[in-house]
Formats: sequence, C-alpha cells, structure tokens
Amino acid sequence: MNQAEGDNPPLIETFVQQFDAAPIHIAIGPGRVNLIGEHTDYNDGFVLPVALKRDVRLVFRPRADRRVRLHSVEYDETFEFDLDRLAYNKAMLWTNYVQGVAWALQQEGLPLIGLDGVISGNVPRGSGLSSSAALEIASALAFMHAAGQMDALTGPQVAQAAQRAENQFVGVNCGIMDQFISLLGAENHALLIDCRSLGYELVPFPANAALVIGNTKASRSLAGSAYNQRRQECESGVAALHAVLPDITALRDVTSAQLETHHALLDPTVYRRCRHVVSENERVLQTVEALKRGDLARVGEMMNASHESLRNDYEVSSEALDIMVAAMRSAPGCYGARLTGAGFGGCAVALVDPGREQALADAIFEHYPKATNVWPEVYTSRAAQGARVESL
Ligand code: ADP
Ligand code: MG
Repeated sequence: MNQAEGDNPPLIETFVQQFDAAPIHIAIGPGRVNLIGEHTDYNDGFVLPVALKRDVRLVFRPRADRRVRLHSVEYDETFEFDLDRLAYNKAMLWTNYVQGVAWALQQEGLPLIGLDGVISGNVPRGSGLSSSAALEIASALAFMHAAGQMDALTGPQVAQAAQRAENQFVGVNCGIMDQFISLLGAENHALLIDCRSLGYELVPFPANAALVIGNTKASRSLAGSAYNQRRQECESGVAALHAVLPDITALRDVTSAQLETHHALLDPTVYRRCRHVVSENERVLQTVEALKRGDLARVGEMMNASHESLRNDYEVSSEALDIMVAAMRSAPGCYGARLTGAGFGGCAVALVDPGREQALADAIFEHYPKATNVWPEVYTSRAAQGARVESL
C-alpha cells in the first residue's frame, strides 16, 4: 500500500462526503524546526532548519474550470473562490494562505486551474513550527500539479512565491526560511540556507540523532515589537561599522574579530545585538561542519551557546523558555538545547540520542509545569522529507 493511502483514510473520506467523488492526489507540506541560526535571516546570514514529521496535507481533485472549493478539517469550514476573483477573507483566515499562493503563482505567470480540496494538518498552529508555510507549500504543489506546471518554477522560486503570499496577501512579515525548508527538506538532512544568495545545501543529519521540541505554550505577544526593535538595532550597528568597514552591507559581512576591533564605535546594547548575530552565523557554519563529521557533542555545544547568546546578548528568551531549556538539558542523552524561532515564547528544541526521547519528554513534564503552572506540549521528530505530491 502506498504510504499516503495508509495515513489518510479520514481525509479521503471527508473529501468524498464533501464533494461526492474521490480525491486523486495528496500534496504534503511539512512543518519545520530551526536547529540553529536565529535572527540571522534578516541580517543576510545563515540558517539551518530541519523538516518535521508533522505536516499539512491537501487531498485534491483538479477541476475543468477556475473554481476552487476547499474544506478545512480542523476549522470545519468550507470556502469557495474563483481564481479570477481572489479576495482577502477576514472571517476565515486560513483561506488566505491558499488564495495568496494562487495569487502569487498567477503573478509568476502560471496558468492555474481550479480544484476541489480538503485540508488537514498536525503541525501545531501558531506555535512557531510554521504550520503557515506548511499550508502554503502544500497549496502551491497542489495548484502546480493540478495545472501540469510542476516544472515551471525552480524550488527557490516556489518558496519565494509562497513567502510573497504570506507577506503580501496574508499580511504577515516572515523570512524565506520556512517555505524553503518545507519545500526542499530531505529525510535525514538539515538544510543550510544562505539568506543572502538563497543558495542552499543539504547537510547530512545523522540517523542516530533525534529532535525533541518543547512547546512552552507561553504567549509570544512581546515578540512583534521586540523583533522590529532588534532589526533596527542591527541596522544601526551596520551603519556605525560601515564608517570603518565600507564594504559591508549587512552583519553577515562582519567577523567576530572585526566586531571586537571596532567595539568602541557601537552603543553597548547595539554591540551585544551585533555580537549575537555575528557569532550565530559562525555557529551555524561550525554546526554544519560538526554534522558532516557526525560530531553530535559539538552540535549540542553550538546549540547551547546559541541559547546563551539569544538570552544574554539578543535578549529574546523568556523565563518559560529558559526553564524549558534547563529541563531538556537535565535529561540523560541530551546533547544540547536552545530556544527556536523568534523568541519570547513558542518552542525550544533539543538534540538527543534516539531512544532517549521519552526520558527527555519526562524531564520536561517533571520540571516545566511545576515551575510555570503551564502544561507544555512535547513533539519528537527525526529530520523528515520535504514537500511532495503523491497519487492516491
Ligand atoms: P505558525 O506558522 O507558527 O504555526 P502562523 O500564525 O504563522 O503560525 O500560522 C497559523 C495559521 O496557518 C493558522 O491560524 C491557520 O490560518 C493556518 N493553518 C495552519 N495549519 C492549518 C490547517 N491544518 N488547516 C487550516 N489552516 C491552517
Ligand atoms: Mg507562520
């Protein structure tokens, strides 16, 4: 039996109930976790995400016209639109991700056709594991496949179209990492992305390594304003350093040694922000080298150092994240742990020996609720396959 068939009977059944016919294909977009490289994307730097075994799935059947009929299992809502009349929907926000992708692909010149589809996902929504990019990428592949346009765009072009959908149609400011990894991730690999050139490289992620993600369930309400402030601080760092390093256009171009030499030019807070970004880029590249050697202890050290830098220099951690990370590190077989995502809430990620995932989860459940009065969620994953379309 095809793996997709095995996993999807309820989704197929819902489709038959909704549309009185069987779906033909399934488009799958995974969520992601960033192993290391935080707040480096908007500094033209490096990120190293991994695709998760959790995904958003869209079972679909192409239509002969330009109508799109969608049903969401999680929201239990049905929505119809025409590919010639896309319009932001305030009442059903989830539809805007799909409409936005249709809008962006048509802007790229792709001749789309309509489809009937049912959407369901197990990427936790709004927790920083990028269920939005998973939905966008599944939608993009469904539209492209339905229209016979799977080869019309390169991977980076598809990822950029999905990012434009989120930035301009949905109206959410996000970088390119999430769409990139959802589309281009591969089993047992992390993906090194150069956020300046959009060059990328799959990096072997050892089969003898597992990821445990702890969701703090803490509000990320501070994240938005702090994010904008950090971006400004990075820009003012570049502006000050530009006086002595005229070739730089972003913190990506600055080495730790240069930053130390010109320390005095920077306001102390701006200096610490810059020190995080510059050292984090270096840690990403060191993590890549360590992964290639299968040196998990070193990867763990880099993850730990990343968390300290985000906490002390970039100041985007929180009490809940620090407690989560400490609980993770207390577990046997944990190589390292750090907050992942923009910070202030959301998730932390730990690298652990396979077979020790449950012990690490137990450590989280033992320590975290006592210290915070919040019941966390814990997910485990290996580095999973990126997006694809399968026949049913
Ligand atoms: P994150 O990407 O961190 O999970 P976002 O707020 O960016 O959080 O995106 C979450 C939104 O994506 C949801 O509010 C919903 O509109 C959409 N979404 C995610 N998963 C699904 C799903 N399974 N079905 C329908 N919409 C979804
Ligand atoms: Mg998102």
